[in-house]
Order: sequence, then C-alpha cells, then structure tokens
Amino acid sequence: AKRTGRGRYVVFDPAMHERLARSVATEADLRLALQRNELFVVYQPVVDLQRGGPCGVEALVRWRHPQRGLVSPLEFIAVAEESGLIVALGAHVLRTACQQLAAWQRSLGAQAPASVAVNLSAVQLRQPSLVAEVQRCVAEAGIAPGALQLEVTESLAAQDETARARLREIKALGVRIALDDFGTGYSSLACLHQLPVDTVKIDRSFVSHAETSDYHRVLIEATIRVARTLGMDTVAEGIETPSQAALLQRLDCGRGQGYLWSPPLAAEAVAPWLLQRPP
Ligand code: C2E
Ligand code: CA
Ligand code: CA
Ligand code: CA
Repeated sequence: AKRTGRGRYVVFDPAMHERLARSVATEADLRLALQRNELFVVYQPVVDLQRGGPCGVEALVRWRHPQRGLVSPLEFIAVAEESGLIVALGAHVLRTACQQLAAWQRSLGAQAPASVAVNLSAVQLRQPSLVAEVQRCVAEAGIAPGALQLEVTESLAAQDETARARLREIKALGVRIALDDFGTGYSSLACLHQLPVDTVKIDRSFVSHAETSDYHRVLIEATIRVARTLGMDTVAEGIETPSQAALLQRLDCGRGQGYLWSPPLAAEAVAPWLLQRPP
C-alpha cells in the first residue's frame, strides 16, 4: 500500500502494474521485434507412442526482448492478432520451420524429424494469399508437402465455412492439417467428420485429468476411436509422466508430445536430442 496523503491509502498491485505496462508496450515493441529479428523458433519433439521413437517436431515462436528477456507467445500472439502483425510473424515462422526441416534432412538424413508442425492463427486463415504462401514456403525449402503440418484450433475450423474452404485448398497441396486443442472448443465429436483435418490433437487439459477423471478418460477414448474411424491420427499434448504416456498408449493414441520427452528446444539442440535416442 502506498500513502497518497491525508491518510488515504491505495493498493499498489505490482503484478497489475506490470501487466498494464506490458500490454501498452507490446504492439510497438512487437513491430520493432520483427524488424530487429528478435523472434525465433523453438521445436518440441513429438514421439510415436506405439513404436516409441521420435516422429516430428512442433515449431513454437519465442521472443527475446532486449529488456524483458524471453516473452511467452501467450503474451504476444493475441496482440499480434489484434494488430495484424500475426500475418508477418506467422509467415516468418512458417518459412523458418520449412527451411529448418530441409536443413535437418540435409544433415541428419533418415534421422531427421519426419515432419514439422506450424501453428496458424485465425487471422492468417482469413488471408486469401495464405495458400500461395504455404505453397511457396514448401517449394523454396524443397521439402515434401506432406512433411508440413499446419495446426488450427478447433473453434475456428468448426465455425467458419471460409476457413474450412481454405483448409481444403491447403490440404489439396498435400500439406497436412491438425486440429489443435481438441476438447476445449465449440465443436464436438459429432462434427469431426465435417472438418478437413488429418490429425486431432487432444488438449493438455484432458491429458492431465485422464488418470483421475472418468469423464476425461472416456472422452479421450471416444475421440481416439472416432478419429481412427475417420482415418485421422491422434496426438496427446502435454504428457508429463510415464503413467500418462502408458495410459495414452493403451488407449491407442498415435503420437505424444510433452515435457516427459522434451520441452521445446532451440533449433541447434534438436539434432543432439534425436541422435541420443533410438529411432
Ligand atoms: P499450443 O499450440 O497448444 O502449443 C503447446 C504449448 O504447450 C506450448 O506452449 C508448449 O511449450 C507447451 N507444452 C508442451 N508440452 C507441455 C507439457 O508437458 N506441459 C505443459 N504444461 N506445457 C507443455 P508455448 O510454446 O508457450 O505456446 C503457447 C501457445 O502459443 C501455443 O499453444 C499456440 O497456441 C501459440 N503459439 C506458439 N507459437 C505460435 C506461432 O508460431 N503461431 C501462432 N499463431 N501461435 C503460436
Ligand atoms: Ca499447436
Ligand atoms: Ca495445442
Ligand atoms: Ca494450447
């Protein structure tokens, strides 16, 4: 509390002050960050739950701010979306991830990640130029289109027919589509068959409750079964313990991702990580 004179006190909440300062600073900073190359991409390994080996990576953006240090995407993706900067930011991440996969293929050959996943924002999906952009990134990197997976959130793909049409165009290029954060949005298992997706990513909130809540476990089981029936693969997000991994494997989930295997890694740390595990 801080004295404001005449015996009145106002509560000074440093956390709130910091939030305000940050949200004011962010858009202008973010614009500069793009120009100054302060954004970079980290990669989290994805493993094949049934075979046990690594099978791909997910690209996640990071911002090394000169004063504030590492800033989480949870803090700046929303600002980037509101300001439209997400279009340039997203294009940068997409290009970087495709080029990085090509570099791993050159240096690691058969031990390179089989695929790279890139997150797409709803704002990017509204750009008619997105399809050509994706095609150009894949072609310039010289990777197979099927080695790129674009991740979109459930609510977006379910609600918006224009978005679904754009996803179909991207799929027609041979690029794969994953439904991110499944279980948290508006759609349900009943509309999964209407969505042009190859993979369903089961949200971390379901995985973290799988062992203690029948409701969550039964929903995971149903999701995996329905996805399988529709010819879609499944990924369980946020696996942190061996017992969660064992449960998801038993439930026949295809792939897993989480701190149990690895946090997101700097690009240079991916090859050593891959080489120290059995394929
Ligand atoms: P997401 O796409 O659901 O990514 C997974 C998030 O969970 C990542 O957080 C990852 O670091 C974290 N994670 C992975 N394994 C575990 C685990 O075992 N436990 C826990 N507690 N967390 C785990 P991150 O990197 O902070 O990204 C947060 C969100 O920001 C992403 O969620 C995605 O929605 C968004 N994002 C990140 N990079 C991009 C990007 O390049 N473009 C767009 N549009 N969004 C991005
Ligand atoms: Ca994702
Ligand atoms: Ca997710
Ligand atoms: Ca998420």
